[in-house]
Amino acid sequence: MGRVNAARSGLTPQEYRSEVGALLPTLPVVRLPLARCRGLVLAEDVVAGVSLPPFDNSAMDGYAVRASDVVGATAADPVRLTVADDIPAGRTDVQPLTPGTAQRIMTGAPMPPGADAVVQVELTNGGTDTVRIDAAVSTRTHVRFIGEDVTGGEVVLRAGTVLNPPQLGLAAAVGVAELPVRRPRVLVLSTGSELVAAGEPLPPGHIYESNSVLLAAAVEEIGGEAIVLRFVPDDVEAFRAAIAERAGDADLLVTSGGVSAGAYEVVKDAMSGHGVEFVRVAMQPGGPQGRGVFEGLPVVTLPGNPVSAALSFELFVRPTLLGAMGHPNTERQRVRARATAPMTSPPNRVQYRRGRHDTGEVEVVPVGGPGSHLLASFAASNCLIEIPAGVAEVAAGDEVDIIILDR
Ligand code: AMP
Ligand code: MG
Repeated sequence: MGRVNAARSGLTPQEYRSEVGALLPTLPVVRLPLARCRGLVLAEDVVAGVSLPPFDNSAMDGYAVRASDVVGATAADPVRLTVADDIPAGRTDVQPLTPGTAQRIMTGAPMPPGADAVVQVELTNGGTDTVRIDAAVSTRTHVRFIGEDVTGGEVVLRAGTVLNPPQLGLAAAVGVAELPVRRPRVLVLSTGSELVAAGEPLPPGHIYESNSVLLAAAVEEIGGEAIVLRFVPDDVEAFRAAIAERAGDADLLVTSGGVSAGAYEVVKDAMSGHGVEFVRVAMQPGGPQGRGVFEGLPVVTLPGNPVSAALSFELFVRPTLLGAMGHPNTERQRVRARATAPMTSPPNRVQYRRGRHDTGEVEVVPVGGPGSHLLASFAASNCLIEIPAGVAEVAAGDEVDIIILDR
């Protein structure tokens, strides 16, 4: 890897990331139904209101018995018992087991008092008046005892736990319907008079709008709530009005476009001097950036080119949101990998190239060029290749840092 000395231009991505991170404090706790908690971080310990199992019950379809009543039973020399009752799951008026009888019982049904084992149906003739039992069982066989899994009153999920399917299932199993979490609400606003929504006819000189779709999906992927505002033309008044409409509903505003050096930079024009500072970050793509607090609302203004917007979200906004949600780890996994092809990079900036790695491989294949408009290359990649400042050339076979995006 060819290292060179070059004057840095602007903040490092690391420095800028800390600045964006500082915009958003840890979010307030809200209670959400389990169905809306996936991927969020539990904000408080959860105490079980019930034991699991909540009562002694059968682990098998079969017959509840006293083990002492079936001692010595074999297929050749079976024991016959009167079937005194039938206990489906959910039955509430289970009668005690009279010695010398059996009760037919289904999986999950409460054990009758006095019974100490279950003979599975396969070891019987399945009788309903009397049953032939072809095998002896020891006490406790096929019985699931109260509190074996969870004792009522114990902490079953600790604050800081990421709520994935097993944790949500457990919360429901102990009777908890809502969990305390921190869920960011993010306003996503795209700017550009050239933008048309997918599905509409495309007039000359226009392009289909894609940033708000990509950014909203990225917010939702980590469990946030995205509020997509209609995207706005390059008009300061229209831009401010769109924000004013929903600003009260959000924790963070993410805009795209209108922050570079041209004329008609609507985001810059509307927010410069109003709490938002525009800076250059020494990276490619994604140099022009802005962040601050606009009329009380934390704002991150991303550049408009789709790959720049996506990368900026990935590097700056995503970890900020994860931090504010209370995630124990806001970092993507990084690994070293050998580049399969040479790459060049501006020496005074960190370059993020798109690449493909295969799980278990230490190789990375660059995908597409460095251009910030190459959305198809980004969509075909599953990692970012980080070429540090001070490096102008990477040769095939050189080791580089990659940031894994698909785990
Ligand atoms: P800007 O930063 O507004 O000058 O935009 C830079 C480039 O990104 C221009 O080619 C825009 O047309 C394009 N662009 C800006 N916003 C979007 C968007 N929401 N969806 C797709 N392309 C966009
Ligand atoms: Mg624009």
